[in-house]
Amino acid sequence: MIPNLNYGNLKDSYLFYNIAQKTKAYLQKNPDKRLLRLGIGDVSQPLCPAVIEALKKGVEDQANIETFNGYMPECGAPFLRQAIADHYAKRGTGLETDEVFVSSGASDELGDILDLFGRGKTVLIPEPAYPAYVDANIMAGNKIVHLASGRENGFLPEPPADGGIDVIYLCSPNNPTGAVYNRVQLEKWVEYANSTQAVILFDAAYEAFIEEDIPHSIFEIPGARTCAIEICSLSKTAGFTGTRCGYTIVPKTLERGGMNLNAMWVRNRTTKTNGISYILQRGAAAVFTDEGQKQIHETLAIYKRNAKVIMKALDEAGAWYTGGKNAPYIWAMCPGGMDSWEFFDRLLNEIQVVATPGAGFGECGKQYIRFTTFGNPADTEEAAARLKKIFY
Ligand code: PLP
Repeated sequence: MIPNLNYGNLKDSYLFYNIAQKTKAYLQKNPDKRLLRLGIGDVSQPLCPAVIEALKKGVEDQANIETFNGYMPECGAPFLRQAIADHYAKRGTGLETDEVFVSSGASDELGDILDLFGRGKTVLIPEPAYPAYVDANIMAGNKIVHLASGRENGFLPEPPADGGIDVIYLCSPNNPTGAVYNRVQLEKWVEYANSTQAVILFDAAYEAFIEEDIPHSIFEIPGARTCAIEICSLSKTAGFTGTRCGYTIVPKTLERGGMNLNAMWVRNRTTKTNGISYILQRGAAAVFTDEGQKQIHETLAIYKRNAKVIMKALDEAGAWYTGGKNAPYIWAMCPGGMDSWEFFDRLLNEIQVVATPGAGFGECGKQYIRFTTFGNPADTEEAAARLKKIFY
């Protein structure tokens, strides 16, 4: 038996391992120091009360014969699919409930969805990129076309001049750069995908951070229903990183090669999953109630204040950066043309701040560093005050 040899083409994932090793070594040498962590993209605030209540109620339901649920429908509980469709409708985007698929998170879906396209496809990945896009496509044996971006285009690359692309990953608001596509820019991508018959995988994991008049969903763009799939998550929206729930939108109007991708995804899910836990889906549905929305936005406001604190420090230091507005990441140019790992070491050794080196997100990230705004506010204030001393 020969296994999937594409796994041999994966590069070792040094990024978070190296960060962990370096911080561990630093603390061993300096046990009296406290690190301020603006590195990892995990949340610090707990689930909101409305979700907790709904989860408890879900557990109670499972304790009684009248309300007990066995297997849930593979594509999602009708009450949650409806709640998500209603949420889109409030933003002016009409969806049918069976275009909404409940998932256990965006990461799972970003890789699993490749089943729809078959092997050996050509996939466009704008970079810097969330590393899972690249690795999932290497595992699938796809050909990756890297589309570099940089300061000159605000880390928001436009579609390439040529076709020949089957699948396009777009992430807006972006991890790691915090850059966000506006309507006109997204229109160009939709036009490109429709005219070349490519399919956009739109990662909207950070849409809840948008405050300005910028699309939250690719389906706000005319024409997207014939060229896009949207993958979303409650991880950052509602603190579900350790609870796990997300959703994927596959329009019924999306067809390629005479096949309907919505029908194909139904077939895929009903074959490969037995659905998401009833209890979790009850918790997730609470996010979309008025009370849930109010409460999650109170938590998001904490992260947004963190963003303002970091941005103010970087502004005062004269640093160049993207993100922070409408996004929970801030992507700053390292001072003095420094390499991102070198700057990471300086931040760690001189001011005890942990960030994420841009090199981990692709070649064009080599001179940048990512700060997250998901930390606790007191540490973020302290880190920002120290950052001013090191950016010049
Ligand atoms: N997409 C992007 C761009 C992310 O940054 C993340 C998590 O950091 C995910 C997807 C994964 O989200 P989930 O926790 O739902 O798997």
